[in-house]
Amino acid sequence: MSTEIVTDVVVIGAGPCGLFAAFELGLLDLKCHFIDILDRPGGQCAELYPEKPIYDIPGFPVVTGQDLTDNLMAQIAPFAPEFHFNRMVNSIEKQEDGSFKLATDADEIFHAKVVVIAAGGGSFQPKRPPVDNIEAFENKSVFYSVRKMDDFRDQDVVIVGGGDSALDWTLNLQPIVRSLTLVHRRAVFKAAPASVNKMQELVGEGKINFLTGQIGKLDGENGQINHVHLTTDAGDLSVPATRLLPFFGLTMKLGPVADWGLELNDNTIKVDTEKFETSVPGIFAIGDINWYPGKLKLILSGFHEAALMAQAAKKIVSPDERVVFQYTTSSTKLQKKLGVA
Ligand code: FAD
Repeated sequence: MSTEIVTDVVVIGAGPCGLFAAFELGLLDLKCHFIDILDRPGGQCAELYPEKPIYDIPGFPVVTGQDLTDNLMAQIAPFAPEFHFNRMVNSIEKQEDGSFKLATDADEIFHAKVVVIAAGGGSFQPKRPPVDNIEAFENKSVFYSVRKMDDFRDQDVVIVGGGDSALDWTLNLQPIVRSLTLVHRRAVFKAAPASVNKMQELVGEGKINFLTGQIGKLDGENGQINHVHLTTDAGDLSVPATRLLPFFGLTMKLGPVADWGLELNDNTIKVDTEKFETSVPGIFAIGDINWYPGKLKLILSGFHEAALMAQAAKKIVSPDERVVFQYTTSSTKLQKKLGVA
């Protein structure tokens, strides 16, 4: 049975612009839930350039992608937004009462009065390794992300890749699996050095097996793998495996956003510049996913769009409430919401 969640606002995408929207919505007492395909907040900043410095965020002469994400998470913490990671919004349907019903690929239904699409360049989708017939095993015994760690408990797991996702999941899953083999094409990793050191310690203790090589063929039936064939420096090997996690990076595709009946401009959603509302009243689009004349795909543009969107969203959620414009510097009411007064 689907899980049903009722909220004021659903924000699709927990990139920097979506995250800041939770702040602006929170100041107006609107409760929001985030849905994101990735397993962490930060969108492009956290996924594509966590350690790169950004120089054009107002008030920060320099901040890395990850530090900006961490600061945004701290800034919105008083409003306790709820996060649903590792799932994609597949569909949005307008209901007779004007509200929206959203369905995810994790069998959840969200009911919201307002939808904010902050989906950036679209959905990050895993790159599929060049392995014959891998599709037959996908989502049964081959996964591109970990939704529930319990699915890997007592399994023979093969993880392929050398980036943060491969190393993070190697370390997180090792204590609960029956066996774990990490495969990377060379013994040089792109992941955080602390994770690499920890992984090497576990290899030294015989708790995980590390092989340099590439995956070839998969053996199994009815979607369940039983062996992964590898081409390694030491020759061809066949490793017993009941779960395979290939982490070959991500590509960005517009994905299901294109099918939601919104007026588009190429691969972006047309909005007005007063409220950043789409062609469907009650659905807003902010950040890189939207388009209007003069649009700049900058984080600071998305922050401005979030502030104006929130004012319009408030009118939809609480049509009878009068909103008085206030500064956070001087309003004790706003400071109470932020937990500082
Ligand atoms: P994103 O950061 O793209 O986040 C969108 C989120 O939505 C993603 O997490 C995605 O998984 C999720 N999503 C999409 N579709 C769905 C769906 N159907 N269901 C669930 N989740 C979904 N900008 C600057 O201002 N200054 C810079 O110096 C700068 N440097 C950059 C350097 C690089 C290398 C790159 C790649 C970009 C840079 N940018 C910079 C651009 C900046 O990162 C983007 O403008 C910003 O990330 C847009 O934020 P966003 O919240 O709109 O979307």
